[in-house]
Amino acid sequence: MPHPTDTYDTTGTVIDRTRPVIALVVPCYNEQEVLPSTALTLGSLLDTMLGKEMISADSFVMFVNDGSRDNTWQIITELHSRDNRFKGLSLAHNRGQQAAMLAGLMTVREISDAAITIDADMQDSPDAVIEMVEKFRQGADIVYGVRASRSTDSWFKRSSARAFYSLQQRLGLETIYDHSEFRLMDRKSLDILAEYGESNLYLRGIMPNIGLKSDIVTYDRAPRTAGVTKYTLGKLLAVSIDGITSFTAQPMRLIFSVGSFLLFADIIVAIWVLVSHFQGRAISGWSSLMLSVWFLGSLVLIALGIIGEYIGKIYVEVKHRPRYNISEKLID
Ligand code: UDP
Ligand code: MG
Repeated sequence: MPHPTDTYDTTGTVIDRTRPVIALVVPCYNEQEVLPSTALTLGSLLDTMLGKEMISADSFVMFVNDGSRDNTWQIITELHSRDNRFKGLSLAHNRGQQAAMLAGLMTVREISDAAITIDADMQDSPDAVIEMVEKFRQGADIVYGVRASRSTDSWFKRSSARAFYSLQQRLGLETIYDHSEFRLMDRKSLDILAEYGESNLYLRGIMPNIGLKSDIVTYDRAPRTAGVTKYTLGKLLAVSIDGITSFTAQPMRLIFSVGSFLLFADIIVAIWVLVSHFQGRAISGWSSLMLSVWFLGSLVLIALGIIGEYIGKIYVEVKHRPRYNISEKLID
């Protein structure tokens, strides 16, 4: 018998919001230093929530080994043999945090009511997990973990993150400020996520795009419990570029605007060139060269902009994103 706060997923199966099966999805890349203590923390987190009768006893942790080169997978295997609430998934190659999380989410979606992605280094507060589950039980489909402050980050990381968020916003992306990958997603939102066919994944952008009922939980991000960051500057840049180019063709439109602006500026250049020419200040050949360089330059940019517009359309088409996402149904 469904509870009043229960909802249905896209196949019409009840999502249990009273005693939900919660899956904690943990991407792990070379995390041998932190895994033993992380498993202890997450195990007792499950016990706490179970004690509060917030979750089902079937709730579990899904570690996703992202092609680690250290003993990460061995540790996960040992954890699983000791306690089958610790489950594991191993990717053949290192495909990055986004892909590792997606692999975990797609694996758990059929066996849980909601999944929470959390970093292996326990920088995301385990206490905030309890609040997320509470918000889910109250009816939210997606709950974003939002950082209360960035005091534990270096100056560089703090200011580059700010610049990145505001650039994204200016380019028209729907993003949640100061939210990284710490979030709860219920089965309905994961079913919809599965419909997104693109291979350049940027979950932070896709989740708001899904458009279901969401809520936020603020938390203080702790320093890493052990080990070092797995993000090199190169990896960080790659994710940022992916974040923008997989959501908007706006930079391509900019070419057209620049071309049009230059075509307009041509008039001023032409006046200046002609005045110089008739005042006899120009050496022979300069005037015609100047006029053609400016005129042709702007034409080339406009032409590129038009091509860009078509490529922009192709870009949207090849993504094969769902054209709409259903949030509720009353048909029986
Ligand atoms: N991670 C991953 N694959 C990678 C890089 C990172 O699965 O290629 C995982 C990593 O194990 C951790 C999470 O992503 O659980 C966040 O990484 P990290 O803590 O190193 O990033 P930071 O907190 O420094 O941004
Ligand atoms: Mg970290």
